[in-house]
Amino acid sequence: MGDDTIPPEFLEPEGDAERQDPDLVLETATATLRNLWREWMCRRGDGTFTDVEFFGRRIGGVPTPAVDAYRALERALHTAGYRPDSRWAYNCRLIEGTDQPSLHSAGIAVDIDPDENPYSEGDPFAGKIGPDHVAAALAIRNTDGARVWSWGGHWSKPDRMHFQLDRGPAAMDVDWRTVPGGEDDDGGGDTDLEEDEMVLSKGMKSPAVKRFQECLLGWDPKALPKDGADGIYGSETVDWVGRFQASFGLEKNGRIDGVTAALLVAHGK
Ligand SMILES: [Zn+2]
Repeated sequence: MGDDTIPPEFLEPEGDAERQDPDLVLETATATLRNLWREWMCRRGDGTFTDVEFFGRRIGGVPTPAVDAYRALERALHTAGYRPDSRWAYNCRLIEGTDQPSLHSAGIAVDIDPDENPYSEGDPFAGKIGPDHVAAALAIRNTDGARVWSWGGHWSKPDRMHFQLDRGPAAMDVDWRTVPGGEDDDGGGDTDLEEDEMVLSKGMKSPAVKRFQECLLGWDPKALPKDGADGIYGSETVDWVGRFQASFGLEKNGRIDGVTAALLVAHGK
């Protein structure tokens, strides 16, 4: 783990999760996470670390139980069309203004593109990270159906660059069926780029439409009550695709583009 010098742009103040918006989706408190991952904190315990390749750059100091979670995050963001220029995970330090270690101190938080995703007030999506990217990342579940990552952009002061694990080391078994893009067999690369460009919309009639209608039915058996999976992209399909998008925080446009398609496949079993 040789390259541990932190570039200055990654020394973000970092919002503490306890100060997040109350209706927000962090499921495990930061204090609890700190305790669950204490063996990895600043490498003072017995925790083991592994280097991972994350968007083409080696990041050191990832807790070994979290390696699959990082692979899944890369896969989901990639499928949603996100391409980071910079990223950093492990960093032994306190949260600014507190005596508590940052979750970066255990390598269970990763910052992505701090220049383009600044820590500041205002619209969480004012940076390079958009709703599609976040929805894809937060769709990742473990085998108990619990969410694996949370996003700092949802905190009361948006920390747009910051993703952190939302579970302890014993709950890191990723359910790859929930990862947009699925398991990446070739260990990286641009295998799904063509999917980014695919759009299905109202008026189309095809086996692909039928396939995604079946995914909608797998997601909610009450979907498409009138026409079912008939392969025709009518008003009812537009309506239900919109409901599906809204449930993942996506723009409710009723069209099936790359991210909506990936989420339908992942959650429509
Ligand atoms: Zn961070």
